[in-house]
Amino acid sequence: MNNYIEKVLEEVCSKNANEPEFVQAVKEVIKSIAPVITKDHEKMALLERMVEPERIITFRVPWIDDKGNVQVNRGYRVQFNGAIGPFKGGLRFHPSVNQSIMKFLAFEQTFKNSLTGLPIGGGKGGSDFDPKGKSDNEIMHFCQSFMNELQRHIGHDLDVPAGDIGVGAREVGYLFGQYRRIKNVYEAGVLTGKGLDYGGSLARKEATGFGLIYFMREMLKANNMTLEGKTVTISGSGNVAIYAAQKAFEQGAKVVAMSDSNGCIYDENGIDLNEIKRIKEVERLRIKEYQAKYPSAKYLENIKGETPKVYTIKADVVLPCATQNDINIETAKILVQNGTIAVGEGANMPTTIEAIDYLIENNVLLAPAKAANAGGVATSALEMSQNSMRYSWSFEEVDSKLNQIMTNIFAACYNTSQEFNLGINYVAAANIAGFKKVANAMMAQGVI
Ligand code: NDP
Repeated sequence: MNNYIEKVLEEVCSKNANEPEFVQAVKEVIKSIAPVITKDHEKMALLERMVEPERIITFRVPWIDDKGNVQVNRGYRVQFNGAIGPFKGGLRFHPSVNQSIMKFLAFEQTFKNSLTGLPIGGGKGGSDFDPKGKSDNEIMHFCQSFMNELQRHIGHDLDVPAGDIGVGAREVGYLFGQYRRIKNVYEAGVLTGKGLDYGGSLARKEATGFGLIYFMREMLKANNMTLEGKTVTISGSGNVAIYAAQKAFEQGAKVVAMSDSNGCIYDENGIDLNEIKRIKEVERLRIKEYQAKYPSAKYLENIKGETPKVYTIKADVVLPCATQNDINIETAKILVQNGTIAVGEGANMPTTIEAIDYLIENNVLLAPAKAANAGGVATSALEMSQNSMRYSWSFEEVDSKLNQIMTNIFAACYNTSQEFNLGINYVAAANIAGFKKVANAMMAQGVI
């Protein structure tokens, strides 16, 4: 690390001491970009500007539950970096949401969006609202109240939110409806992840999971391997996890375990994905329900403070598709002991810095989140293009563009790893590749 980078990192740590996730995300990026930092960057305080969001909006979200009680949540939108396009990034509804998590996600999003090669800046938002156990009516009232404030800050040329944890097609529908009502305009490109009947894109639902497997395919190929015949375990059973599982099966792999925050199911014959879809997408139940249809499958309950059970199952390929910091150093050691070949980060920042270093040192191929899960936002950008054209592409057309984008993203990571002698450190390679375009745009636009 050079002195300039160290100085910026120190400032970030002291200014954001109470935001551990944000500091972690900045550290991971900034430590690896030293080879491309120039004197001009230092003179123009590029890094200092890059680690400071352009704008953070926090707001009150009051709503009335089914019993008539008034509830209050906190809403956020972090508009981190708009140098290469309108702010773009999902909304997360989860009780753990706070400013640190919003800022880490928006910071990561900036580099991820740059890697897609599409003109989109970085943003993220959400609320500490917990959708679990809420009725449809309560979800709708919450979304409407959330949008009453958010609508002031978004627009198809300004900031385009989408889904993330706890925000799927149902929530995007309620949010879009309220936006349309308040603004009195049909601005389809203001939100992505919309339903197919009102401006959504085919293959958006599948995009993050499919994209993760396309990236994994390319990474394995570059290391003379394929997914054929590999066993796969997946942390999570939400949107990303389900479609990663589907594409992994299509590529000839066998997914043997999936999880939710309570525990995991292990079916050595291969998971019945239709049953998972029924449990999670239709009934919105816990993954444990899988045993009702498949009593021979094992259910392993998580123990607080211990490695999530899904990571204790031996697999060639491990896909963390749930939440941040799911794989710490203890878990990484288990994966190495189990002979894991590759880890594909479907979730954002699912691996701690220590665990990343350990995995790479032990020759585990690591597909970094900001590259490997960029298929979702890339397809969101394709949804925006279709909205602008007032035209829709077929599933095959969108999927083939997604496939090409993910192939290009891996190629950018691979070429960067070669150029800077990084070996299999695709984490550093993705950071450098994502950084360059944002840095060039910011330098060209002057001190803003
Ligand atoms: P969903 O809400 O559809 O699913 C989230 C899954 O992760 C659920 O199985 C959930 O289990 C589990 N999970 C959530 N929080 C925790 C936690 N604290 N501990 C353990 N498990 C948890 O979300 P997505 O699939 O959309 O998102 C998953 C990850 O992928 C996130 O990190 C997100 O940022 C990232 N991502 C998503 C994209 C998208 O297009 N959706 C794009 C790029 C990244 P439970 O039901 O028990 O909470």
